[in-house]
Amino acid sequence: MTVASQNEPHDGLSTVEARVRDAETRAGRPKNSVRLVAVSKTFGAEAIRPVLDAGHRIFGENRVQESLSKWPELKSDYVGVDLHLIGPLQTNKAKEAVGLFDCIQTLDRPKLARVLAQTFDAVGRTPRLFVQVNTGEEEQKAGIMPDAVDGFVEECRSDYGLTIEGLMCIPPVDEEAALHFSLLASIAERNGLDELSMGMSADFETAVALGATYVRVGSAIFGERAKPV
Ligand SMILES: *Cc1c(COP(=O)(O)O)cnc(C)c1O
Repeated sequence: MTVASQNEPHDGLSTVEARVRDAETRAGRPKNSVRLVAVSKTFGAEAIRPVLDAGHRIFGENRVQESLSKWPELKSDYVGVDLHLIGPLQTNKAKEAVGLFDCIQTLDRPKLARVLAQTFDAVGRTPRLFVQVNTGEEEQKAGIMPDAVDGFVEECRSDYGLTIEGLMCIPPVDEEAALHFSLLASIAERNGLDELSMGMSADFETAVALGATYVRVGSAIFGERAKPV
């Protein structure tokens, strides 16, 4: 058990935290209304512990297998970790994902909704859920198409008894992210959903200005990743 009596500052984390609070203020939003998901994919436990030692508890990973290699131990060493899955989930990994993650941000198809509902019952654990929206309508990208979100959210509620907390998106790399953030916010609003996961290292301040409640930031905290994921 690691008992941190005092938080040890972490440069990347402090810088990004300060920028998030600044962006909140500039947008006229309440302090701490935006939560920072520290995206630790590709980084090992030795790089993650200093961020935990600094007092941070919300983390994001995009692969189930990789997460299983580091988070069970980190979660037993640090109380209060909130671990988000932000990458695609195959149904054959649903059981492991439900056992480990506290929030699954990538619910993107009816079959996964059905399997998750069954798995919640079987495992006895209920991670919070976000629906991933393919705001750019890109063929190679996961997510529900914008005009199908209302129906999908309703299907999750009525057919599978799932509670959807919010929406997440990953805008196309070559387009103005702000347009996608605004679209996501409007879809969330008309569905009565409070949480919006949007914005990464390059554009999280824009996302805060447009209503993000979670921003997902990796490289600005941990440094550049060795290989793109
Ligand atoms: C990797 C990743 C991030 C973080 O990206 P950075 O540019 O390093 O901040 C955010 N969201 C998702 C879905 C990711 O896969």
